[in-house]
Amino acid sequence: MPLSTPIPPRVFCIGRNYVKHVQELSNAMPEKPVVFFKPASCLAGVGELIHFPKHGQDLHHEAEVVVRIGKQGRVTTPEQALAAIDAITLGVDLTLRDVQADLKAKRLPWEKAKAFEQSAFLGEFVPYESSIDLQNLDFRCTVNGKERQHGNTGDMIFSIPKLLIELSEIWNLLPGDLVYTGTPAGVSALQVGDIVTVTSERIGSFSWTLVE
Ligand code: ZN
Repeated sequence: MPLSTPIPPRVFCIGRNYVKHVQELSNAMPEKPVVFFKPASCLAGVGELIHFPKHGQDLHHEAEVVVRIGKQGRVTTPEQALAAIDAITLGVDLTLRDVQADLKAKRLPWEKAKAFEQSAFLGEFVPYESSIDLQNLDFRCTVNGKERQHGNTGDMIFSIPKLLIELSEIWNLLPGDLVYTGTPAGVSALQVGDIVTVTSERIGSFSWTLVE
């Protein structure tokens, strides 16, 4: 399936945004959002067959709520931040944890662990409207039908509006920008043949299959 959005100018990703996930990886609690990028060429639309990367082994799913920016400009208040969002969906920030551990130990950038081909699964967008409570959005990730992650955006360290305000201190938001807003606890390893599904009642259910 083709992508459900035009090629975004940028794909922002937030790391360490749920307490229990920070703890499961023994990372320090962030005082400011942890931000990294994936190039748009990493995006994988719904149903696209996902090739297991060849430069690592410990491939983790990170289910995340993804927001799309609809307006250019910086936001400084929660109201402005919410008004800047035009659509939301779910995605998976695929991560090679073994490669990342090696890069972290060497204090090197994470791109090889995070920004490889097909590393950003992207669901289909639903328009954002005020009846969608971004502070209380429940979502799940199953692998082969078994639940691995169950998150609620109410558990975020930095809420979605807060993330956009923090990003705005550095970047001028652009229409089409995507923000992967961090993953809850339960990240775990994937294998060839696995089917990864992310689901939220308000957004939908999207699956990807891993192949060699
Ligand atoms: Zn992530």
